[in-house]
Amino acid sequence: SAQTPTRSKNAEDIIKGNAIVVFSKSWCPYCVLAKEIFSKRNLKHLAVELDLVENGADLQASLYATTGQKTVPNIFINQKHVGGYDELSQIAESGTLEDLCQGRSMEFEFDLIVIGGGSGGLAAAKEAATLGKKVALCDFVVPTPWGTKWGLGGTCVNVGCIPKKLMHRAASIRQDLNDADDFGWQGKSSESVHAWETLVGRIQGHVKSLNFGYRISLSETGVRYFNSFATFVDKHTIKLVKGAEELQATARNFIVAVGCRPKYPSVEGARELCITSDDLFSMRTPPGRTLVIGGSYVALECAGFLVGLGFDVVVMVRSVLLRGFDRQMVDRIETHMTAYGVKFVKNCTISSIKKSEKLNGIMVEGENKGKKVFSQAFDTVLLAIGRVPNTEKLNLEPIGVRLNDETKKITVSPDDRTSVSNIFAIGDVADGVPELTPVAIQAGKFLVRRLYNFKTELVNYDFIPTTVFTPSEYACVGYSEDDAIRELGEGNVEVYHQEFKCLESVLNSSSKFHPKNYAKYITRKFDGKEVVIGAHIIAPNAGEIIQGFALAIKLGATKSDFDSLIGIHPTVAEVFTTLEISKSSGKSAAAAGC
Ligand code: FAD
Ligand code: NDP
Repeated sequence: SAQTPTRSKNAEDIIKGNAIVVFSKSWCPYCVLAKEIFSKRNLKHLAVELDLVENGADLQASLYATTGQKTVPNIFINQKHVGGYDELSQIAESGTLEDLCQGRSMEFEFDLIVIGGGSGGLAAAKEAATLGKKVALCDFVVPTPWGTKWGLGGTCVNVGCIPKKLMHRAASIRQDLNDADDFGWQGKSSESVHAWETLVGRIQGHVKSLNFGYRISLSETGVRYFNSFATFVDKHTIKLVKGAEELQATARNFIVAVGCRPKYPSVEGARELCITSDDLFSMRTPPGRTLVIGGSYVALECAGFLVGLGFDVVVMVRSVLLRGFDRQMVDRIETHMTAYGVKFVKNCTISSIKKSEKLNGIMVEGENKGKKVFSQAFDTVLLAIGRVPNTEKLNLEPIGVRLNDETKKITVSPDDRTSVSNIFAIGDVADGVPELTPVAIQAGKFLVRRLYNFKTELVNYDFIPTTVFTPSEYACVGYSEDDAIRELGEGNVEVYHQEFKCLESVLNSSSKFHPKNYAKYITRKFDGKEVVIGAHIIAPNAGEIIQGFALAIKLGATKSDFDSLIGIHPTVAEVFTTLEISKSSGKSAAAAGC
């Protein structure tokens, strides 16, 4: 309930006589917003409209003299100068405005505490500290059942993207070694033997250097680092535990960026006998005969590089490969991987895992609709059946943070806010968000800029490119052909495609390492144009190629834009500038020449 006096006392008396005062100007949009913040919360405030009261100019001059602030709104709560609209909205965002107005102490140790030192958490903490905020970050890795643990940096750095891509690279070197003879290299390059221990040692060395770099960059930006496990006590307090050490810390705002960990099936022995991607990249001994269970990113990428490194690999899949991806591309990936040496067992779920002294390994049985269909011994069983969010031990629900009942991820609004207004969630732990490193990083940066740097931009989750690092990489952005037809109707969709062989492999005789490549884009026929709404490619370095085209597609490029783009010859990427064969024409898109 705002009041506007026609005559006013001096500024000091007004401030002393009223709990909440907004010195305002009736035409100022920020003043309107500031007053709305109080009104919406039923907080009784006095609005002094400096352009309407007789002594407005004098009041403004005296406010400038005492606060150094020339602008309006100029806000006071319980005789304390708060600042302008931005300061007020930050307090309101953090959920502490009511407490402040009621005179409760609002002194926190930190402006922001980030829980989780992975891709999203590190980006957010560093950004906030750079903006002058007092920030703490806590990160703690609970060891796997095999005792594997790691340093600061989260999944991507320690047990995800980085070691995975290095193993993918190690496997692709085998392809180069195999090709070398055909390019005139002499010697026994194709008979080279791989030393797993050397690769793991080098990868772990690199990972440790990244862990160290993150610690340094936190300290350089002034972020206080706690290598402790965090649990909420209330909406402004967390408990930090490391071994016998326990302490508490308070903050105005929290960002939860605790990520996910691999899921275990409810089969006896799974935790004791199986490993996950959390263990694989630091295994000191070679994995040997490996069963990979799962059919998505992690399963296919690991199966691919393990075969490339020379191991026997079986992949047990309960349903389809790469659910949610373009089916035609997935079928090609399956064909390529099978030719490469991966054995797929489809429609099969694990029913028993036992150590077998006789077979010197782990005996695994699988079933389909209750019928035993699989039985084989392995040296290593790698579970890749998805990931569960690290929300169980955070004490979120008791303090009011809502979780999705099914996924147990944190429910967030488009501005990353949870159901408790000063607690935010980003990255893999946020419900409905793609589990990808660049997504977590951008969410962290944008959130902090909205909180502390007056920006308003939200993360746009459309047209996020991705790559599955299978032996022949599959990269895509936007719609799959199946989704486009389902959503827009077959008559509104056209697909242009081409199978091709890349020049790098034309001298090579082994098709095992050089399958046919394939590219397509999907267009939406609209207003006499064909807007490209999805692009897919299976080719060497497909990820590098799709990254650039993703921008064009995000900006609304049409088929004629792609056609008018002059390619770089001879490259793989140029295929997107020359796609002529439409699926509706029925013409063959089989590979023909360079
Ligand atoms: P995380 O990086 O998982 O970080 C969360 C951190 O919080 C962890 O260090 C965790 O230990 C810590 N933590 C948890 N609970 C607490 C607590 N209570 N207190 C303190 N600390 C806590 N993405 C890509 O974009 N490209 C890829 O090629 C790619 N490859 C991948 C390969 C594998 C094998 C896996 C598993 C994932 C891969 N990803 C990839 C996904 C990517 O790693 C994740 O999307 C990204 O790491 C998510 O970042 P985050 O900040 O949300 O969480
Ligand atoms: P996903 O959630 O993507 O897939 C889980 C897979 O396991 C599916 O094939 C699923 O089959 C199967 N599955 C689930 N439960 C069971 C079960 N009980 N028994 C047998 N199979 C089961 O998990 P991932 O771990 O592969 O990847 C997690 C996320 O990490 C990805 O979604 C991706 O965002 C990210 N990531 C990104 C990478 C990249 O960018 N290159 C690489 C690796 C990970 P079904 O389809 O039947 O449900």
